[in-house]
Amino acid sequence: MSGEPLVSLDGVEVHFEESQGLLDFGEPEVVRAVDGVSLDIEENDVVALVGESGCGKTTLGKTTIGLQRPTGGSVRYRGQDVWDAKDGRGDVEIPHDEIRRSLQIIHQDPGGSLNPNRRVRKILEAPLKRWQSDMSAGDRRREVRSMLERVGMTPPADYAGRYPHQLSGGEQQRVALVRALLMDPDLILADEAISALDVSLRVEMMDLLLELQAQFDTSFVFVSHDLSNARYLASHAGGRIGVMYLGELVEIGPAERIINDPKHPYTKVLRWATPDLHAGSDAPEPPVRTIDIPDPTDPPSGCRFHTRCPEAREACRRHSPEPVDAAADHEVACFRELDDHEYWSSPPLADEDESVDDAPPSQPSPAE
Ligand code: SF4
Repeated sequence: MSGEPLVSLDGVEVHFEESQGLLDFGEPEVVRAVDGVSLDIEENDVVALVGESGCGKTTLGKTTIGLQRPTGGSVRYRGQDVWDAKDGRGDVEIPHDEIRRSLQIIHQDPGGSLNPNRRVRKILEAPLKRWQSDMSAGDRRREVRSMLERVGMTPPADYAGRYPHQLSGGEQQRVALVRALLMDPDLILADEAISALDVSLRVEMMDLLLELQAQFDTSFVFVSHDLSNARYLASHAGGRIGVMYLGELVEIGPAERIINDPKHPYTKVLRWATPDLHAGSDAPEPPVRTIDIPDPTDPPSGCRFHTRCPEAREACRRHSPEPVDAAADHEVACFRELDDHEYWSSPPLADEDESVDDAPPSQPSPAE
């Protein structure tokens, strides 16, 4: 399986059935939390997933590390189908236990994920006992103290003796990070892992993530609603930003390209909405036809962004764009990337409030 990506998602779908209440006997509504996402994550890779609340970024992150079973498509770890390994189907070359150890998570709320009745020492020794059972008790203690020191929790003996409630939010998040790293993982999902921290602590925590990512050669999938934080982390790590909209990955590419030369109209909206990223822009209104987000149980036909997209034309209502290469390592799902697509001869989409420009269609300039 050499040459395989660390984790490979191919056409992944996660659809949830949503009950409509006790008195409703009709068909349950289906939420397409993730729809047809393909993504490769390599060794030492950093991918920051961004998008509005409910866009499916957390569900995609959890599917990537095998915490969420997809309803369609496949998730492979070093070429091994994660769910075949879990279910014992076919020739399993990598056991599920090893996959579980290799793919870890740190949550938004570290307090909720740390056992309140255990001291930090016990919390951190548990993964060593499980995954390195030949390690002596003394070596375990030394390893835990050394890791606490590496994340700046000194004196480590003091912190090792505390309970989670005796730690600040930032310290709890560091313990959660150490616990994940003690599994010697290949990939860590940081799910809004800095959102609950004070603004002053966020950069500190991101710097720590970057330092440890380099030291431990660990890949990271960083889920965030904040494009500015995603940029900081992905840019410093030489990684990518992936933009999600209504369950689809609409643009992914190197962090600075996504920030400085976004191609997808939705990425431009996210950039507009992040004040420290659109300095110099004097556009007072967001570049959307409407701020209303469509119902995820009934997403728009064709391109899902067409109801809000200021560039939408009739073709966007009828057809769904596939991701295409906009540049090296940069993919975009928008017809405007295809010079010969019928989009260019299609009339602008009629708009209820007539906010769409009636100008005749034009070809994109090279700079677009
Ligand atoms: Fe907008 Fe059409 Fe591109 Fe979708 S395909 S983002 S509606 S221009």
